[in-house]
Amino acid sequence: MKLTGFDHIIITGKADQLSYLFITNDGVEFCDGSRLKEKTIVETTSIIRRIHRDYQIQVAAIGSAGEHQVLYSTIVSSGNRVNGRTGMGAVMGSKNLKAIAVRGSKSIEFAEPLAFLAEVKKIEQDIQNHNEYTKRYQMGTTMLMSDLNRIGILPVNHFQDGVCDYIDKVSGEKLARTFKVKNKACFNCNLHCSRYYICEGIEAEGPEYETLCSFTSKIGNEHLPFALEMNHWLNQMGLDSISTSEVIAWIMECQEKGLIQPCDLDGLDLKWGDNDKVREVIKQITFREGIGNRLANGTFLLSQDFSEAAQKLVLHVKGLDIINGDPRGIKAYGLTYAIASRGGDHLRAEPFFELTNRKAEAKKRFGTEKAADRLSEEGKAALVFYSEKIALLTDCLTMCKNIGLCMDVLNFDNISSLLLTCTGIKYTPAYLQKIMNESIDLQKKLNQKFGMSQRDDTLPERFLKEPLKRGPTKGSVVDIKKMVTEYYKLHNWN
Ligand code: SF4
Repeated sequence: MKLTGFDHIIITGKADQLSYLFITNDGVEFCDGSRLKEKTIVETTSIIRRIHRDYQIQVAAIGSAGEHQVLYSTIVSSGNRVNGRTGMGAVMGSKNLKAIAVRGSKSIEFAEPLAFLAEVKKIEQDIQNHNEYTKRYQMGTTMLMSDLNRIGILPVNHFQDGVCDYIDKVSGEKLARTFKVKNKACFNCNLHCSRYYICEGIEAEGPEYETLCSFTSKIGNEHLPFALEMNHWLNQMGLDSISTSEVIAWIMECQEKGLIQPCDLDGLDLKWGDNDKVREVIKQITFREGIGNRLANGTFLLSQDFSEAAQKLVLHVKGLDIINGDPRGIKAYGLTYAIASRGGDHLRAEPFFELTNRKAEAKKRFGTEKAADRLSEEGKAALVFYSEKIALLTDCLTMCKNIGLCMDVLNFDNISSLLLTCTGIKYTPAYLQKIMNESIDLQKKLNQKFGMSQRDDTLPERFLKEPLKRGPTKGSVVDIKKMVTEYYKLHNWN
């Protein structure tokens, strides 16, 4: 998009019929999208490229789920890069906007091109020299299946357990050994952590950890090919894997506990590992058919039709389903979900540092070695207070949080150098911290305007009161009040 000369696109109003935007150096064109109705992401991309006879066109599109305004539908760009959370696909669907296509050929000017390139080279070196480089190259985020299982916090049967007895059948290692055929990368990334697979007639990219866990241990499925099939369906139809699996796993747990009967859901009877039914119900959700129409509103809204006991089992913060990381064993993540302005969201701070066991570094940066102890609440407010600013800057630079935060490659100093050499404007590290804090203050104020307060900055009851029963995280729960109070103090919030 930058090569078209536009920095931002703001879309208001609604088209009368299905349309797509085509943005070039010459301006913006509204095009008839009737041929794109119910097309998958990849089909949409290739039809638009054929219409305009240009294979270099880049496309961000919605699938059928977005067209039917499923409240957790996604926007997918370049075929497989997914804006997954909070139902942005439904927003595009509500505007009859199937896709945004861009083709630019303008040049980009840099203030100090050689100095900028030198800064980029340093970051590339840091990535390649990182001790997790090989593992991330081989498995990408799917390495977390085994890693989280080892420490007892892999969500099993909707977070009722943290240890998966069939991990060897569904791990990232297993995927790398069996169906993976090559590596893939996002634009301009030298880590290439994404993967391409061929399995039972499907050729596709992914899955990432969240999707792999969502469609294996979280719903009781031991069959890896089924998870790969679902990954492809969700990415091409435009559904968020975290929220889709939450509605399924929540129903499974509620039905197991007798809190919801099949007759409450038009006869739907879901049991752990019942893959045929899961496949069927996901199709219904995608097109809002039958019971899928209710499930397409998401777990939080669906649960309002049921008892308080069932509602308590929805694992969400501020209405957004939480990711597949059990906060009972990663406390800074728990704090991040609780305070994130858009709800159960790890990307607000991505405090992966707490899993690194770098005690001396923790003491130096966050005042206590405990900041690198995943089971401790101590030092986690300081860690999140730091990481949320780097996360926001990583977004501003349009970089990747796997690199910026999980690999701890970005910091205020190198971001300041990148910005100076790129734009010619001096953003000192202190100034960057100040404006990021102001931005986070603004998000807080917006949420206050929407009626939210500190009482919304919390976690589902399961994580506060119900300890895990086995494994290395056995017995642990989250003291969320302590962490949130400390975090508020750092922001000077009352
Ligand atoms: S940008 Fe991030 S997600 Fe994409 S390939 Fe690189 S490390 Fe992986």
